Amino acid sequence: MSMRVRIHRGSHEIGGNCVEVESGGARIVLDLGRPLDAGHDDEVPLPSISGLDGNDPSLLGLVVSHPHQDHYGLASQVSPKVPVFIGEAASRILHEAAFFGCAGLTCAQAGLLRHQQPFDLGPFRITPFLVDHSAFDSYALLIEADGRRLFYTGDFRATGAKAALFRRLLERPPAPVDVLLMEGTNVRGDAGPRGGCRTEAEVRAAMAQTIGAARGLVLVAYSGQNIDRLVSVFSATRKARRELVLDLYTAVIAVATGNPKIPQPGFGGLRVFVPQSQRRRVLESRRFEYVRRVKKCRLYEQHIAARADRLVVTFRKSIEPMLDALPSALKGAVAIWSQWPGYLDMPSGAGTCEFCRRHGIPLIVHHTSGHASIADLQRLAGALKPGRVVPIHTTTPGLFVQYFKNVAPCDDGVWWEV
Ligand SMILES: [Zn+2]
Ligand SMILES: [Zn+2]
Repeated sequence: MSMRVRIHRGSHEIGGNCVEVESGGARIVLDLGRPLDAGHDDEVPLPSISGLDGNDPSLLGLVVSHPHQDHYGLASQVSPKVPVFIGEAASRILHEAAFFGCAGLTCAQAGLLRHQQPFDLGPFRITPFLVDHSAFDSYALLIEADGRRLFYTGDFRATGAKAALFRRLLERPPAPVDVLLMEGTNVRGDAGPRGGCRTEAEVRAAMAQTIGAARGLVLVAYSGQNIDRLVSVFSATRKARRELVLDLYTAVIAVATGNPKIPQPGFGGLRVFVPQSQRRRVLESRRFEYVRRVKKCRLYEQHIAARADRLVVTFRKSIEPMLDALPSALKGAVAIWSQWPGYLDMPSGAGTCEFCRRHGIPLIVHHTSGHASIADLQRLAGALKPGRVVPIHTTTPGLFVQYFKNVAPCDDGVWWEV
């Protein structure tokens, strides 16, 4: 007996991760992501894994490393008979995101991932390791079976709010492992060892400077599920003695983290605006508790116009109609783009560019990657002492040999032994 692995997607692309692991006829699936290049309405078929339809009991479960679509996005197509394992906060966040139509996930999860709390699924012992990443509640996974050990990094970085977790992993690694299945988003030809990765603290400082220098309203576009970034935006806002305005969706996600230290309704200096589209969603579903919970800190259109130079507003497509109707509030306004700059050249970011052009608002980018630099990937590989390094979540697996020892790239769809 041994442990076998087959990458279904991710060996030559960033995102869409899906890995099947087999031992003694039993199988588990690590992540079931939607490819990042799939359009919003594109139908993406499930990878050919027996049992995703609920009709093969040898499939013991699906383990979702973290709540990013390129890791869970196809999970809603899986039979409810397949047990799903995910972090508790991650599961709450995706449940709320589903309510707001933001590609969430509502599934009855079979088990929750907890930092360094191993659990057994058939022949597999699974140990989650909480990691620093731009998604909240993200895990790397150690999979053990038949005396073999596979360490799957999921997505991670070492420059964010949870950087201490990375240091601890280096100090006390579950080493040696037989195979390190490692993400390589920043393993690119043009990337230096630091991979252009600024720390989250550097982003926060740059943002505080822009907000401090602004004369009018400041708009910040960031992912509502990037909780590290929410913390940075709030901190930069307070440093500039302004108030941060969240849309209802972002406020609900912040609460869903279950962490009272995350900026959320009830915090001084934090307000909530409910855009028309979100108001409609609440009305139609009659889920009035969503607005009731933000009653005390709610802000309306007229307040935003009157206090533009004292506010930082979370910038989403859903608030553009409100801003279009308040041209006086946009006098001297500045916009900050705090997510992947590549979106600005894609349909998803084009609307923001057009909005800023229309109103003559400068758009400044303050962002850093949610992924580890080459230097940090090398540190991890050094600590885990893998027999082999298998690249995943990369467009350039061939470049791994330049930076790591014992690299063995594996194509999608091919079984290999751990
Ligand atoms: Zn990813
Ligand atoms: Zn991710």
